[in-house]
Amino acid sequence: MDDCIFCKLANGEIPTEMVYQDDRIACFKDASPQAPVHVLMVPKRHIASLDDLTPEDEELMGYMMLKIKDIASSLGLENGYRAVINCGEDGQQTVKHLHIHILGKRKLTWPPG
Ligand code: AMP
Ligand code: ZN
Repeated sequence: MDDCIFCKLANGEIPTEMVYQDDRIACFKDASPQAPVHVLMVPKRHIASLDDLTPEDEELMGYMMLKIKDIASSLGLENGYRAVINCGEDGQQTVKHLHIHILGKRKLTWPPG
C-alpha cells in the first residue's frame, strides 16, 4: 500500500533497525519503545488490522505466531515477554498495518491501561 509507513519499513523503502525478516514478515524496533526490548512484527503484505483478516491469511498468521518465540529468544527474552496486537479505535491501533508488539526485559504490569 503506497502511503503505509509499515509497508515501507517492511519492504526496505525506508531504512530501519531490522531484527528479523524473510519473504513473508519483517520485525523491526519500535520508534518509541515502551520496554527495554520493544519490536514490531509485521506481514510484508499489507493487512490493515485483525478485523481485515480472511481465511486466506490463516497460514500467515500461524506462521507469525510461531515466529514470536524465535524472535523473543534471539532478543534474549528468556525470562518472558508480552505479545500484543491492538485493533481499531478502542484498541488504540494507531498504525493501520497489522503488527504484533513484542515487549520484554522488564516486569510488565497487568492490566494494560
Ligand atoms: P499501535 O498503537 O498498536 O498501532 O502501535 C504503533 C506502534 O508503531 C507504536 O508503538 C509506535 O511507536 C510505532 N511506530 C510508529 N511509527 C514508527 C516508525 N516509523 N518506526 C518504528 N515504529 C513506529
Ligand atoms: Zn502497510
